Amino acid sequence: MSHLAHNYHPLEVTVESGEGAWVTDVTGRRYLDCLAAYSAVNFGHGHPALVAAAKAQLDRITLTSRAFNNDQLEPFAAALAALAGKDMVLPMNTGAEAVESAIKVARAWGYRVKGVPADRATIIVADGNFHGRTTTIISFSNDEQARADFGPFTPGFVSVPYGDIAALEAAIDDTTVAVLLEPIQGEAGIIVPPAEYLPAVRALTTERNVLFIADEIQSGLGRTGATFQCDNAGVVPDLYLLGKALGGGIVPVSAVVGNADILGVLRPGEHGSTFGGNPLASAVGHAVVDLLATGEMQERARMLGERLQARLRLLLGHGIVAVRGAGLWAGIDVDPGLATGRVVCEKLAERGVLAKDTHGSTIRLAPPIVVSPEDLDWAVDQLEAVLQELGAA
Ligand SMILES: *Cc1c(COP(=O)(O)O)cnc(C)c1O
Repeated sequence: MSHLAHNYHPLEVTVESGEGAWVTDVTGRRYLDCLAAYSAVNFGHGHPALVAAAKAQLDRITLTSRAFNNDQLEPFAAALAALAGKDMVLPMNTGAEAVESAIKVARAWGYRVKGVPADRATIIVADGNFHGRTTTIISFSNDEQARADFGPFTPGFVSVPYGDIAALEAAIDDTTVAVLLEPIQGEAGIIVPPAEYLPAVRALTTERNVLFIADEIQSGLGRTGATFQCDNAGVVPDLYLLGKALGGGIVPVSAVVGNADILGVLRPGEHGSTFGGNPLASAVGHAVVDLLATGEMQERARMLGERLQARLRLLLGHGIVAVRGAGLWAGIDVDPGLATGRVVCEKLAERGVLAKDTHGSTIRLAPPIVVSPEDLDWAVDQLEAVLQELGAA
């Protein structure tokens, strides 16, 4: 019997090691990792530059707490701020903590800068959102599985349909301090909003003196063929929320990145984290930023993504009813008459491809950006074979 709580239902693969886009299980079997830990492993398993940065820092020092400065944090913050075109970084650990931190910053900004009456601040979110698992974050989720029996919930959030600018506009009032959105909804099934949506959100929030917070925890840092999905949409949010790939798949590293007129509202003692900004996380995060600074990873994701999307579109009508995505990130809706996403993922695993289903019939593909074009083609071959095996036309 397992001693683990039952909050996950993993595929029956027990991984022992990994290199690049491939992992090896305890029996020696190899699998192409087409999930990349929900994009936390964007640069592949054991990326040499990231492992080297981690190993070097392990030998120096790993944790000081923010009670003292450490020599890795400030250079990391400067590099990350430069990558984002902003001037301030609030370092945390997990994605959910970055979201929670941004909620606190937005509320404090609302009271201290915008002048919203005490305890009245509201934040607008989108239906179908996924921003993490804490009690406040699930308070504004519409996923019943994520919420059932976890109430009472945190007030102060309004949810509107994703991609609907009129609904967003109608929801804004004098108490609105922020709009919090995923530029592409990841957990919802790689839902890409209409091209005009994010520019309209930017224009509207600017006009109404409301912060635009982009949760790029899964979409950011190369996955979509750009540093941020907001770049693809041609918008600059007030706050970027980053996590997942920021830790290079080695340690949890997250951050809120913005300008001092917003992030500067936090005063000493008002917010913190024992591990946030630790030297090991900073060294790895800095190496991740250096990898992205050349633009090569983003370009590779863009090129491989075009190849992937083109191949997947050929499967439309052959067991697949929809394909969505951006860069090296695809959401594939399997014909529900054929099989569930779970069954397809189990059959993919038998053929050596690891992927994850979401919402019943959707499969998400997000291989590490270092995957070779041939391996990527092979993964789609396996998907095609699985669909045929299940009786697709
Ligand atoms: C994964 C994710 C989070 C939460 O990150 P954790 O590190 O699991 O807490 C938040 N927002 C988005 C968009 C995510 O994909």
